[in-house]
Amino acid sequence: KKYVYAFHEGSTDLKPLLGGKGSNLAEMTRIGLPVPGGYTVTTEACIEYYEKGNIIWDELRHQIEEKQLELEKVMEKTLGDIKNPLLVSVRSGAAVSMPGMMDTILNLGLNDETAKGMAEITKNPRFVFDSYRRLIQMFSDVVLEIPKYKFDNLLETKKREKEVKSDTDLTEEDLRELVEAFKKVVKKETGKEFPQNPKDQLMMAVEAVFRSWNNPRARVYRDLNDISHTMGTAVNIQVMVFGNTGEDSGTGVAFTRNPSTGENKLYGEFLMNAQGEDVVAGIRTPRDIEELKEILPEAYEQFCEVAKSLETHYRDMQDIEFTIDSGTLYMLQTRTGKRTANAAIQIAVDMVGEKLITKEEAILRLNPNDLDQLLHPTFNEKALNDASFITNGLPASSGAASGKIYFSPEDAVKAKADGERVILVRNETSPEDIEGMVASVGILTAKGGMTSHAAVVARGMGKCCVSGAGELNINESEKVMSIDDQHFGEGDFISLDGNTGHVYAGQIETQDASLGGEFLTLMKWADSVRKLKVRTNADTPKDSAKAVEFGAEGIGLCRTEHMFFEDNRIFVMRRMILSRSVEDRKKALDQLMPMQKKDFIGIFKAMGSRPVTIRLLDPPLHEFLPSEKADIEKLALEMEVPYSRLKETVFELKEVNPMLGHRGCRLAVTYPEIYEMQVRAIMEAAAELKQKENQEVIPEIMIPLVGEVKEFEYVKELAENVIKEVFEDYDVTVPYLIGTMIEIPRATIIADEIAKGAEFFSFGTNDLTQMTYGFSRDDAGRFIKEYREKGILEKDPFQQIDRKGVGELMKMAIERGQQTRKDIKLGICGEHGGEPNSVEFCHMIGLDYVSCSPFRVPIARLAAAQAAL
Ligand code: PEP
Ligand code: MG
Repeated sequence: KKYVYAFHEGSTDLKPLLGGKGSNLAEMTRIGLPVPGGYTVTTEACIEYYEKGNIIWDELRHQIEEKQLELEKVMEKTLGDIKNPLLVSVRSGAAVSMPGMMDTILNLGLNDETAKGMAEITKNPRFVFDSYRRLIQMFSDVVLEIPKYKFDNLLETKKREKEVKSDTDLTEEDLRELVEAFKKVVKKETGKEFPQNPKDQLMMAVEAVFRSWNNPRARVYRDLNDISHTMGTAVNIQVMVFGNTGEDSGTGVAFTRNPSTGENKLYGEFLMNAQGEDVVAGIRTPRDIEELKEILPEAYEQFCEVAKSLETHYRDMQDIEFTIDSGTLYMLQTRTGKRTANAAIQIAVDMVGEKLITKEEAILRLNPNDLDQLLHPTFNEKALNDASFITNGLPASSGAASGKIYFSPEDAVKAKADGERVILVRNETSPEDIEGMVASVGILTAKGGMTSHAAVVARGMGKCCVSGAGELNINESEKVMSIDDQHFGEGDFISLDGNTGHVYAGQIETQDASLGGEFLTLMKWADSVRKLKVRTNADTPKDSAKAVEFGAEGIGLCRTEHMFFEDNRIFVMRRMILSRSVEDRKKALDQLMPMQKKDFIGIFKAMGSRPVTIRLLDPPLHEFLPSEKADIEKLALEMEVPYSRLKETVFELKEVNPMLGHRGCRLAVTYPEIYEMQVRAIMEAAAELKQKENQEVIPEIMIPLVGEVKEFEYVKELAENVIKEVFEDYDVTVPYLIGTMIEIPRATIIADEIAKGAEFFSFGTNDLTQMTYGFSRDDAGRFIKEYREKGILEKDPFQQIDRKGVGELMKMAIERGQQTRKDIKLGICGEHGGEPNSVEFCHMIGLDYVSCSPFRVPIARLAAAQAAL
């Protein structure tokens, strides 16, 4: 088996075998760019190294030696030659980029003897001893595992002694002394001399790179980024070129386009008289790549050309490392450059314009989730680096927010009125907290997962939210939040990053979102290829309008319960709940009806001719009542009912498992008047718009939590009776649909029966996941984290559809539903409707649309386009 490839034997196609760096070095060699010669030890060799019990076996050693000889022949220099030694670099390079384990050793091949020989032949002893001290430093760090600072300290001491600022001001003599001092450190730390035999140095270095694959930081990085632990890393051995031979040498890194704005202009930094790590180490301040034009015009021109040709060759923005050795340019690495979401869009659209890539490729190149960055404010990156991290929770809703913390919705509302920027901190939120959430710029909870109330509502509002920050102790009545020995009280500043789930102390500067022309261009391309329609989950005219702005093609879920919390409606709603007779209840409902109707008119207007799905009341009624004694007392006074009566009602409504309790269509079985009122409000709104404004709307009335076909039939009949009445009252008819949520596993099984009466299905994958897995959506956040850490669950099923379980149930429901109603309309309105992987699944199983919160609409549009390509 071939374990070692010369650069000229490989190409990008061999990336899994040669790693990213190795395959790109091979590719650059293949297309004739100036790359110093070398060879790559394969990732397979690394895997076998581990399988064989961490040893470099004979066959491998032999193949490395053979390639080394070939290289020496071409270079007319040999490793360890005391007159004219060959020096090499040894660098790691896995198939996926892993910044956590970039181990590099430069100047390998130097020892006391070769250094002497090289000093003579180059007539530049200062450079040689600078290189030698660097070798000892890097070799000690990577191979011998001696802490870096032991060497850095000596270097700093030397500079202080000599009263110089920069490494480059140290003299040959200083560097010789440093080499001796460094060697002493090695002896002291390992009990052995610094290895003087270059061949030993080489094998030890190769082995160290293999080992680095499994160092803790590399493992953590792979865990965080879902990278397999079994791929192994390749090792690249390359002839050294030197950026530190003097003032006509240097080294740098550059991007072919600006990685933060996308501007089509070379962007990079370099240092003269320096070696690789100096540029990134921040010891000296690197200079703008453009200045190279003045210093070495020819090398600069050549570099610009190479950069351009690399971009054309790879058809993507490149991140390049280069070195200039005594005026001659060498390429040391190229790879696809990382970029911000803004830059990604700019570059993709520009490259289509330059005919470098097709529109389809442009669509596929973007990560839909990154679009979020563009729609919400983000923290200023520099400011974030200096911020003090407190803890993290789930990135429940995107954006960045700094503000003063308040522990109750009332306090939040008050503070907002006083002009404060409020962060609402709660153990968990409930519908009662809505007003506090509206008043806040960000929401932080200690409990609850990605589909908890706080998460869902915050996403709907486009507000930053971190949920389930389980390490926090939140005492709402004492108004303190603490973690370890840090305490935060009312009015203290904190900052939330809804993109990462991180929580920081103090304020961090934010920057606003901006949607440029390129964004719109790209979205237009995406819309032209996708098959799935994209609707939104919205409950207010304002959110609906926002969603339309983001490209929503309808409302897939209007959660009517949210409307009951606004203004004084909650008061009437509570009256309704407290009613002892049907008459009383109807009286209260009669008051609520016009308010709901007004809302529906507002929403219909905002949506124009687009379809609107309205769901009848879903949550258990106790959510509309307070639960704390003090709050009950206060409410009893306000409502002028005896405390005991209110308390009794609260007690009666209390359920052990409210999410499995008296909610959804079950409410209609007990209190049909509630749904009757809602259906009337919906249909009167539609009838009135038709009559007065000649606006045609087709309301889609959706019944939640159906698990038994008779439940559905019962509500449908009730609705149709009301609809008939409305048509008579108004003397018009309006087209409408009646359908159901599919969110109870049983409903997926009897979907054929349900579809006889239901004109559409909308998958409520929040509840469907909850009930399929038996994971409480409000509590599972806490242990799912551990499930993921231990590899029991790869993904949180509340975020990404569990295709195997929930997904199969969906497929069955579709198949059975279509048996009795061939053209049944199919959608999804659970939180998964805005998650790219789930959107892809929805495309695959043939849904007509996905529905998600307004701010995720662009993400869903792009994900739907990618799924269709
Ligand atoms: C669902 O269960 O997926 C759904 C959309 O309804 P809700 O989140 O309101 O329960
Ligand atoms: Mg539901």
